[in-house]
Amino acid sequence: MTKPFDAIIIGTGQAGPSLASRLAAAGMKVAIVERKLFGGTCVNTGCIPTKTMVASAYAAHMARRAADFGVAIDGAVSVDMRRVKARKDAISGQSRTGVETWLKHMQNCTVYEGHARFESPREVSVGEERLTAGRIFINVGGRAVVPPMPGLDQVAYFTNSSMMHIDFLPRHFIIVGGSYIGLEFGQMFRRFGSQVTIIEMGPRLIAREDEDISAAILEILKGENIDVRLNAKCIGFSRRGEEIVAQVDCAAGAPEVSGTHLLLAVGRRPNTDDLGLEKAGVAVDQRGYIVVDDQLRSSAPGIWALGDCNGRGGFTHTSFNDSEIVAANLLDNDPRRLSDRIPAYALYIDPPLGRAGMTETEVRKSGRRALIGKRPMTRVSRAVEKGETQGFMKILVDEKTREILGAAILGTGGDEAIHSILDVMYAKAPYTVIQRAVHIHPTVSELIPTMLGELQPLAG
Ligand SMILES: Cc1cc2nc3c(=O)[nH]c(=O)nc-3n(C[C@H](O)[C@H](O)[C@H](O)COP(=O)(O)OP(=O)(O)OC[C@H]3O[C@@H](n4cnc5c(N)ncnc54)[C@H](O)[C@@H]3O)c2cc1C
Repeated sequence: MTKPFDAIIIGTGQAGPSLASRLAAAGMKVAIVERKLFGGTCVNTGCIPTKTMVASAYAAHMARRAADFGVAIDGAVSVDMRRVKARKDAISGQSRTGVETWLKHMQNCTVYEGHARFESPREVSVGEERLTAGRIFINVGGRAVVPPMPGLDQVAYFTNSSMMHIDFLPRHFIIVGGSYIGLEFGQMFRRFGSQVTIIEMGPRLIAREDEDISAAILEILKGENIDVRLNAKCIGFSRRGEEIVAQVDCAAGAPEVSGTHLLLAVGRRPNTDDLGLEKAGVAVDQRGYIVVDDQLRSSAPGIWALGDCNGRGGFTHTSFNDSEIVAANLLDNDPRRLSDRIPAYALYIDPPLGRAGMTETEVRKSGRRALIGKRPMTRVSRAVEKGETQGFMKILVDEKTREILGAAILGTGGDEAIHSILDVMYAKAPYTVIQRAVHIHPTVSELIPTMLGELQPLAG
């Protein structure tokens, strides 16, 4: 028998539960389906667990640096990986239980545990159950890409998901992928005490960012004795006794790297291949992302796609924002749009990178006349006092409108300080608003007005 609902939500990531809450509170009968862990990637294998591990790694790093601050630690600093994992599991588990309990006690909401598949544009199966609704919301997220690299079938490897089970210290971690996930894990395990080699196919780390940011991050990682192998054109694997050997064929350095453990962090793909989308007439692009319009509607009437599976965000805050856009349009008569959103995110190496809006490269490509301001963290009093002077901040302003186009803060507190810039961008206010604001001393944010007072034309 098919069970009727007003709305079906597939997936309990960062959009599904909040949308379920809004729809159910509006009196709709809602079904929400989860096939694995409540809370999805961020809660279980993404942001929350990795940031607890980043915190453990930071503690180890600062303990090693204790003497710099006049603090004596008698004996060597060591990391108990079982306790690192236990702390991570407790924080992540609390969040997962929170989502599960919330949904299971939500009025007007029925939770189904199992794999959801479209049977028709209005019908979804979960095991033996059949559910139907006039509105269906897809929030299925994504997973790690495992490309068919030569020899991969001969070696064991981790992805971000299986990394969550590590409760020991790998002697030498080989990490393939020099972008956000690879860099966070790389620095973290180096600080835990592993030897770390990061292998990147491209000519620089984190290619989405400007070259000066890639270069500064490379310096930060090298400063912690992380071996970074760029231009690894031809990556393959084999076993040599207990060791994993990665052939790298780089422009410089030995043609192979030998280590004890391997992490693949080479990208993510959407969980849309096993959803029966063809039975619902939902179009996907060549990479499997569900095609959506500015209000997150898919190509099939009555079906929306939110979060990582639509390829329009890729972050927890963007997935949550998708749920707000859909709820505003459906329930509040408020025509919020995807295009209202300004790209913003952070990279949680230490020091972190906070980013908002366009990169310098994008501004240059746009051809507009712009101004740029830049300041090294060595000239930020708060950073000097904390003994954390790596990195820099920079900001780009449209010369004509005087609106801020984009900014990057690679430095201590950069993930927080970026928000004062982001908020002025949302306000569509001229940069002079923040330039004249009186920020608190001593903070990283207080140098943003100073930097804006020293703008120079962006040279062609
Ligand atoms: C290592 C790592 C670190 C990250 N760090 C950050 C960070 O610091 N900040 C940040 O903003 N973002 C971070 N992200 C990205 C962030 O985790 C995701 O953008 C976020 O989880 C949003 O995902 P989502 O809502 O689209 O879906 P997800 O959270 O992926 O949830 C999708 C859910 O749908 C379920 N599902 C899938 N298919 C089906 C089906 N057919 N039937 C039923 N259920 C199904 C899945 O089991 C899952 O629970 C990180 C990601 C990774 C991998």
